[in-house]
Amino acid sequence: QNICKPEGFVMDTYSDFDGIEALNRRVAVPLRKLIKTKFFRTLRVELYKPCQFWRSEGSCFQRDCIVQPLDDDQIPAAWRKQTVDQTNFGPFLGSFPRQRPEFTDKDFAIVNDETYGEGVWLDLVENPERFTGYAGAGANAIWMSIYEHNCFGVPPYIQDTAGGWGSQLVNVDGKSMPFVQPPRKQRDLAPFLESLAEEDAGLTLPADVPKEYRIFYRAVSGLHASTSTHICADYFNATSNKWEPNLNCFIARIGAFPDRLQNIYFNFVLLTRALQKMEPYLAAYDYSTNAKKEDRAVARLIPKLLKTVKKAGLVFDDSELFLAANGRALKAEFKDNFRNISRIMDCTGCEKCRLWGKTQTLGIGTALKALFSYPDRAFRGRFTSLDFKRNEIVALITTYFQFSRSIEDIGIFRAMYQNLVTDW
Ligand code: FAD
Repeated sequence: QNICKPEGFVMDTYSDFDGIEALNRRVAVPLRKLIKTKFFRTLRVELYKPCQFWRSEGSCFQRDCIVQPLDDDQIPAAWRKQTVDQTNFGPFLGSFPRQRPEFTDKDFAIVNDETYGEGVWLDLVENPERFTGYAGAGANAIWMSIYEHNCFGVPPYIQDTAGGWGSQLVNVDGKSMPFVQPPRKQRDLAPFLESLAEEDAGLTLPADVPKEYRIFYRAVSGLHASTSTHICADYFNATSNKWEPNLNCFIARIGAFPDRLQNIYFNFVLLTRALQKMEPYLAAYDYSTNAKKEDRAVARLIPKLLKTVKKAGLVFDDSELFLAANGRALKAEFKDNFRNISRIMDCTGCEKCRLWGKTQTLGIGTALKALFSYPDRAFRGRFTSLDFKRNEIVALITTYFQFSRSIEDIGIFRAMYQNLVTDW
């Protein structure tokens, strides 16, 4: 058994791991090209909002933590015009006030207005999510606060077993992470996994919690696991001075925890379902920029992506959720908690990590909004009831790519692991 090769069905979905990997191989090609186009690589992010929850404990000023904002003249005029009419952005024809509130009742994340506010324009391709060296108590505390306070009040639903967070906070010191050597012999695998589980008690999710709670936790844990995967896949090896995949890092953080690995696939499925639902809207969306050649590429790639995603059929059934008598209240709580997580991202003490934390919570939030704030029919016809901003569309596709990339990375780690083991 290869610990980087999950088998069977992804819990709470109608998808199996092999099927997801096959779908990923098909969407990865258009996605990889799409995210390099001007429309999708350019995003305005409110990167310097103060942290509302605690006094930030300082920032990471190492080279790899910093981002370089774009100059205004690199941005299409229509996007930076302060007085621009909202209807310029896609086929949305509604009449919201120009200065959009931080969120509306439909939003699952904080959505800043690209034409307004304090944001900086950034090039996502120039600032990839990868190892930055940001670690230690500050970074741990953010994840801790997300799980403890925002996953529907952790106990009794998500319990921190032996050791607890305290042990995590003292174990980690900056760049020197306590990596473990993966076992080379099959007979050593079980004791190895047990010892890791003891060392990093992590979080366990009992099977009998409401499905909506499980899905919330999976979405967050999957985002965390995908971030860790990118850190380990694009890792700076200080000995060789090279960026390269680090198998020990992957096993210690994700591979040895089947749930975390599974949650990456879960998010990919969730995003796939959102794209299926939004298909007519995304097909009609106006993606034009001032880069004609790239605009033509988008016009070719978006239909290709949407067609592939549609052919995947039933991957996840969002209509099964929030049906119970308390469904309305549960949805409101779900939204509040997820918005809170997107706010907590402002507390991340490393610019590049903050950029990706904010972008991907917006991407997942956009998928949740499409799935749970609108009926199917809203995405047909003239789309008059829809309220999606350009940055939500960019974040959605970008986040889909990030999970697609994680699944590809898992394949790379699987092969590395296979090469390492001796008597499998
Ligand atoms: P952490 O990843 O900090 O996790 C803390 C604890 O959470 C673990 O000990 C474990 O018990 C539990 N846990 C871990 N993974 C999961 C999971 N998937 N599901 C459930 N529980 C889990 N660093 C970079 O190098 N590059 C980045 O781009 C980057 N982006 C970040 C973005 C955000 C929003 C944050 C908060 C941090 C980011 N970091 C980034 C830091 C990185 O995520 C880790 O915090 C850091 O590398 C230290 O890792 P760790 O092994 O101590 O555990």
